Amino acid sequence: MKKAILIDYKYCTGCHTCEVACQKHLGLEPDKWGIKLTQIGPDEVAPRQWQYEFVPVPTDRCNRCADRLERGKQAMCAQHCQAGCLWVGDIDELVGRIDGDKFALFV
Ligand code: SF4
Ligand code: SF4
Repeated sequence: MKKAILIDYKYCTGCHTCEVACQKHLGLEPDKWGIKLTQIGPDEVAPRQWQYEFVPVPTDRCNRCADRLERGKQAMCAQHCQAGCLWVGDIDELVGRIDGDKFALFV
């Protein structure tokens, strides 16, 4: 069964590490992506106070690190996320990790 990706983006710092780790894993050129950061905002939440958020979005090149997961390893992007806000696995397991409303689930 195809694995899913869960991003709990309230903790995402926008550090781009998942993008780079994935590029290396898939052997992609610097302008090609297996997962790509998108930015929401900036939104003005109060006078002169701006808020924005980052959400990494897997592309069609993402193969859910099937080879690594088969060997019992974490997906490369998840392994390198210092914020611990990205998981790849079975959808049933990932749904149990959802905490709050700032998440994106890719199936
Ligand atoms: S590595 Fe983690 S914290 Fe950094 S951009 Fe990716 S999901 Fe966000
Ligand atoms: S699961 Fe693997 S292929 Fe997909 S974005 Fe993460 S590192 Fe890239």
